[in-house]
Amino acid sequence: MKTLRLLLGDQLNPQHSWFQTVREDVVYVMAEMRQETDYAPHHIQKVVAFFAAMRHFAKERIADGHRVRYYELTDPENPQTLPELIKQMLGEEGCESFEYLLPDEYRLDQQLKTLCQDLEIPARSYDTEHFYTTREALAVHFEGKKQLVMESFYRMMRKKHGILYKDGAPTGGTWNYDAQNRKKWKGSPAIPVVTQPHQEDLGPILRQIQESGIRTIGQIDLQNFHWTITTGEARALLAEFCERLLPYFGDYQDAMHTDEKNLFHSRLSFAMNCKLISPREVVETVETYYYNHPDTIHISQAEGFIRQILGWREYMRGIYWKEMPAYARGNYLENKNPLPAFYWTGQTQMNCLKQAITQSLEDAHAHHIQRLMITGNFALLTQVDPDAVDQWYLGIYADAIEWVQLPNTRGMSQFADGGIVGTKPYVSSANYIRKMSNYCEACVYNPDHKTGESACPFNALYWNFLDAKKDQLRANPRMGMMYRLLEKKDKSEMDALKERAAAIIANPDAF
Ligand code: FAD
Ligand code: SF4
Repeated sequence: MKTLRLLLGDQLNPQHSWFQTVREDVVYVMAEMRQETDYAPHHIQKVVAFFAAMRHFAKERIADGHRVRYYELTDPENPQTLPELIKQMLGEEGCESFEYLLPDEYRLDQQLKTLCQDLEIPARSYDTEHFYTTREALAVHFEGKKQLVMESFYRMMRKKHGILYKDGAPTGGTWNYDAQNRKKWKGSPAIPVVTQPHQEDLGPILRQIQESGIRTIGQIDLQNFHWTITTGEARALLAEFCERLLPYFGDYQDAMHTDEKNLFHSRLSFAMNCKLISPREVVETVETYYYNHPDTIHISQAEGFIRQILGWREYMRGIYWKEMPAYARGNYLENKNPLPAFYWTGQTQMNCLKQAITQSLEDAHAHHIQRLMITGNFALLTQVDPDAVDQWYLGIYADAIEWVQLPNTRGMSQFADGGIVGTKPYVSSANYIRKMSNYCEACVYNPDHKTGESACPFNALYWNFLDAKKDQLRANPRMGMMYRLLEKKDKSEMDALKERAAAIIANPDAF
């Protein structure tokens, strides 16, 4: 019985059991579809990186002997939607059964389930064999519990998989070194230059995207294209990360600097999210490197990195599948304001936002703290509708795929889930930004001033936010100290803060 197998653009796992045997009775289909390029305005680098990775993957499988039908974006026979693609292929190939790998996105999951109901042949789904956990694992772990605390899930994962865990105890004696992960970077230690992955000419892909009239955002410079689009490149980047960046990863994980956008971050998210490299391989490589290099790698660096993948990444995926589809509609704080126009241009006088947004437009990347405490923080303080915030995060980063973007944006960053992911909103005044970056040094605004023309907008916005959202947040035990400080402010000070905040919220693009 001939079988059609679908591979989506983020299912490029060369180690999947499907590819361990070449079968004459199986044909794989892959397609660059408008339904995927058009559901959000994506960064141009993201679209190029996905198509480049898909084309490479198809070529490698063909070279291994598999039969792959591949539709490029501009192929006249490309149906551009998933249901049409499958129906067309089943007819052309005369297949009598259909198989697919479980999609990570709810949208595609629903689309495929509906499609399979319409098909008159047997259809079956398979695991992607990528994650440590199943979609349901987090829900099972937290069954009957009100709080879904990441740390509890993470410790279970460390024990279960024996990662940084020996003889019944966490390596180093402590589970979590987060408190040591908060140094400001002041120019040293030097940041090693990480090699750009070698790549062939991506010009033809770029031209096809441009000629198709696809609406994209951001910039692209093919001479400086840094996304890893093959498993080999991802492995090389991982090796380089271990050798050059891991020694300081944890220390400067939360730091931000105008001269060094990437600091000691790995930039492995794109490769992992399209499954070119598995989280297991990344985690185990880092763990082994740590054990083999006790003189140069402290446990806090290795643990800080492994926590992001074994903990946060798997946890976010579990939250997504536990809470969807309602999660995508949550708006606990009832925020309704539009996203400032400068999010699409970087044109603002607020230096922290200018740096983080300009970098995002140039590189399709910003690291976690820039996403959380600069762009996310400002959007929350100005009470932007989480739908608009989601659209921006879903498009601008090369690693943005809804299963990981949504819980990070809507949950962790915007508190729109009312506290499922984070126990309190991640908001701050200028203090935090000044402490962790050099952004304030070259800013027209003064981080010490609370009101007046020169005052940093984050300051008035911060107190105004606490005041505006007290009905939803006052009873939160983790917000108690902030509310006690708010309540100590006299009326005239609060009036001035609220007046300035109202002016910023009414016209954020003027600041
Ligand atoms: P590193 O700092 O080197 O971390 C290593 C790896 O850990 C990352 O590659 C990533 O796979 C994983 N990781 C780290 N933090 C998280 C996290 N909070 N959730 C899940 N995985 C994590 N990550 C995405 O992959 N896609 C997104 O769309 C995305 N959107 C985000 C939106 C917001 C508002 C925030 C605050 C965070 C978001 N993140 C997202 C998480 C994180 O910012 C990125 O994974 C990270 O910046 C990727 O760069 P890196 O590979 O250099 O990461
Ligand atoms: Fe950002 Fe305020 Fe610092 Fe300027 S002063 S960089 S706006 S935190």
